[in-house]
Amino acid sequence: MQIGKELYTGKAKSVFATDDPARYVMRFRDDTSAFDGGKKASLARKGAVNNKFNAFIMARLAEAGIPSHFERLLSDTESLVKRLEMIPVECVVRNIAAGSMCRRLGIKEGTELDPPTFEFFLKDDALHDPMVNDSHIRTFGWAGEEEVARMKELTFQVNAVLKPLFLDAGILLVDYKLEFGRYQGQVLLGDEFSPDGCRLWDAKTREKLDKDRFRQDLGNVIEAYEEVARRLGVDLS
Ligand code: UDP
Repeated sequence: MQIGKELYTGKAKSVFATDDPARYVMRFRDDTSAFDGGKKASLARKGAVNNKFNAFIMARLAEAGIPSHFERLLSDTESLVKRLEMIPVECVVRNIAAGSMCRRLGIKEGTELDPPTFEFFLKDDALHDPMVNDSHIRTFGWAGEEEVARMKELTFQVNAVLKPLFLDAGILLVDYKLEFGRYQGQVLLGDEFSPDGCRLWDAKTREKLDKDRFRQDLGNVIEAYEEVARRLGVDLS
């Protein structure tokens, strides 16, 4: 696989062209950011940990019939993915209240959410990713009605697969964010799944094992990601 020019530089990943116009290389960097890019750092090993973590999760999702852009690992920090036309919304499912839900609705952190909630956010840092609904997505042409329904369906299917997977490893899947894109007329998951984009708590102690360690200056950020990976059986070698 020939890696071509850098097409897109995100806050934690870079995307490169390949000799196949339908494939991109996604490189996971050690950079991390929070608060719409307002807080930044470089955390040793993060790129490799998240790349391998993501490959493990995408394999579990594929086994369950959830289609994603992921094709295969290329190196410690790179994966081959399908080129999608991204839909500019974030889909969030929450099993336990945390983060923006607590700030927005005054719900106490740790409250069980039964049934789990679903939220859409517009992907726009300058606007601080405002919450939007199906109607906004349709009216402003970000996605069609069937695509909206499919994103919701797939996001909940991910919960059905990953909530028990994490629980078996002694971890609560508190919430997570997913993004989708179009590929040959289908909606595919077009995002990474790593502790950068979800909340994971130790099931017994409720210790935070995700990016909140960075957001809240709790320390041992990558050590926590590695602990989650170890408990799941992700090969980090
Ligand atoms: N999230 C994300 N990227 C974003 C916003 C949120 O990956 O731009 C994830 C976040 O890590 C959490 C979930 O989506 O797992 C819900 O985030 P929330 O709405 O609570 O926002 P936050 O408190 O992170 O601002």
